[in-house]
Amino acid sequence: MSEVSIYGLTFDQLVEWLLEHGHRKYRALQVWDWLYRKQVERFSEMIDIPEDCLQLLVRHFILGSLDEHCKQISADGTIKFLFRLKDDHLIETVLMRHKFGLSACVTSQVGCNMGCSFCASGLVTKHRDLTGGEIVEQIIKVQHHLNQQKQAEKVSHVVVMGIGEPLDNFKNLVTSLQIMKDHKGLAIGARHITVSTSGLADKIYEFTDTDLRVNLAISLHAPTNEIRARIMNINRAFPIEALIQAIDYYIVKTKRKITLEYILLKDLNDRREHALQLADLIGDRRKFVNVNIIHYNPVDEHPQYQRSEHESTLAFYDTLKKRGINCSIRLEHGTDIDAACGQLRSKQI
Ligand code: SAH
Ligand code: SF4
Repeated sequence: MSEVSIYGLTFDQLVEWLLEHGHRKYRALQVWDWLYRKQVERFSEMIDIPEDCLQLLVRHFILGSLDEHCKQISADGTIKFLFRLKDDHLIETVLMRHKFGLSACVTSQVGCNMGCSFCASGLVTKHRDLTGGEIVEQIIKVQHHLNQQKQAEKVSHVVVMGIGEPLDNFKNLVTSLQIMKDHKGLAIGARHITVSTSGLADKIYEFTDTDLRVNLAISLHAPTNEIRARIMNINRAFPIEALIQAIDYYIVKTKRKITLEYILLKDLNDRREHALQLADLIGDRRKFVNVNIIHYNPVDEHPQYQRSEHESTLAFYDTLKKRGINCSIRLEHGTDIDAACGQLRSKQI
């Protein structure tokens, strides 16, 4: 039996594979229609594919490489899924409800090697990268769940903000983004897809050059190298100056806005002086930058980090606004379930 997920092939790759195996290009259109429009869960449901072609697909590919291990449903409608992979590793995917639609937060690696000292995912070192198929299939599984509900809603947005560092799994990330964007595939608009990186500056250049034009968010979390290096190891390899250069390259080349994520950690990076330093850092780029202020989800294993007081959060926001910086405070989802990134998974493990 094959272990290769058919969800990992871009449309062109499937066409090429079918042609190599003596079938017509048209079959790829039919197969994708079954996978992404009709969203079948078994090859046997693809009733207009000739038997010899279907048998070939069954021999070479699998249609499901993720099994639902458990899920938690929050009072606000957030659902956290834990999926078991073929090699028994567990990954998290979260479905969130917003005013503007439904977003799926997907995982890009099993564990993470970046070792940010506030993060639950960083507790478990990386076992392996997810394949492109495993990234795409998280959205498919969430969509299958929605299809079973009375009102069949559609996942309209994707954020690659689950466990792992997406730019450290570059090739598979790009494949999955192509399938998400393809109007024959998941058909999610580039502006509805966001990739978050801890700041691998070299990869940000490469990412910009792909012309995928999906949104990019950078986990900055501190206005100075001194503070950032204390909480994020990656700052040693790529200090803030290197990150800013990469951000400028992105802004100039894409003419798109970029998001800077900033978790407020009590007494560490949440004072007025830090907001002023952040505003200075953004400086003339302010037209192209949105700051997303994030509430910290406390992690049992990292008791040294606490969430900022409500007043400090508002004061930080006000200081940035007064300096003309676009900023917003991220709404929280699923606070009554294991909300922090990687928390459900680390508990299960
Ligand atoms: N590895 C990527 C994407 C996954 S993490 C990155 O770091 O950007 C997605 C976001 O959640 C990042 O901004 C990350 O810093 C943040 N995050 C991690 N742990 C958190 C926690 N306990 N509370 C709030 N945000 C957290
Ligand atoms: Fe990895 Fe992102 Fe967590 Fe850092 S914040 S350990 S990069 S998942």
